[in-house]
Amino acid sequence: MENHYTRAVNRINNIDSMQYLDISHKRYEDIRSRGEYTADATLIAEYYRRVGVLLQFMSKESVSIFTSMSKIINNEIENLDYDNMYTICPNLEGINLSVFKIICFNYFQWCTLLDVGDPIAIKFHDIYEPIIKLFERGGGQISIHHHELIGGFGAFTRTISASRGDKKELDISDQALKQEIKEVEHAEAYLKEYKLDSSATNNCVRCRNRLVIQEKESYGNRWYKIKCETKTCYDQNFS
Ligand SMILES: [Zn+2]
Repeated sequence: MENHYTRAVNRINNIDSMQYLDISHKRYEDIRSRGEYTADATLIAEYYRRVGVLLQFMSKESVSIFTSMSKIINNEIENLDYDNMYTICPNLEGINLSVFKIICFNYFQWCTLLDVGDPIAIKFHDIYEPIIKLFERGGGQISIHHHELIGGFGAFTRTISASRGDKKELDISDQALKQEIKEVEHAEAYLKEYKLDSSATNNCVRCRNRLVIQEKESYGNRWYKIKCETKTCYDQNFS
């Protein structure tokens, strides 16, 4: 029978690595759409939330993005053999993204705990799901700059704090992410229209209420806030 570890390795080996090669010279907007980056940010935020819930459970305050979750629940666990990384997972060879590769390896380690029936690992069995899903969807272009994780999605802190666990759970189903992308595309189309004719109107795809565009300017940069008139509905900034 296929165990969690084997399934995880197969999953990473099945990622289309072509999308991660030769990207360092490309601009973010040439790699993925604005909508895709918005969905990517949702996946990262949900990963941070799940890590936060685990940290609270383990009474830990914070952890680095590079930390293996297995180490948090089992200090005795053997270190993974990073020298053997490309033997285990040939697909990772050639991908020059350290965050991506380390998290994949940490995910394998987590799966070894699931395979031995570690009760805490079982309780938090899907902790890596949002971030692995991000990688599978092509959103793994993440780099580290000072104390931040940066990419076309924006920025996240490199340290994940336990308070992340207090946030609302985000829907990371394919359908929800598709809907999120659709909303951004809708807002982008409206903004394009608005730039040609500021009297153009449009409605929110979620609730059909009116969308409002506010023009903003800071440090000589012009940007736009697109907001639904319904409170706590759609609200996103565009440049
Ligand atoms: Zn709305």
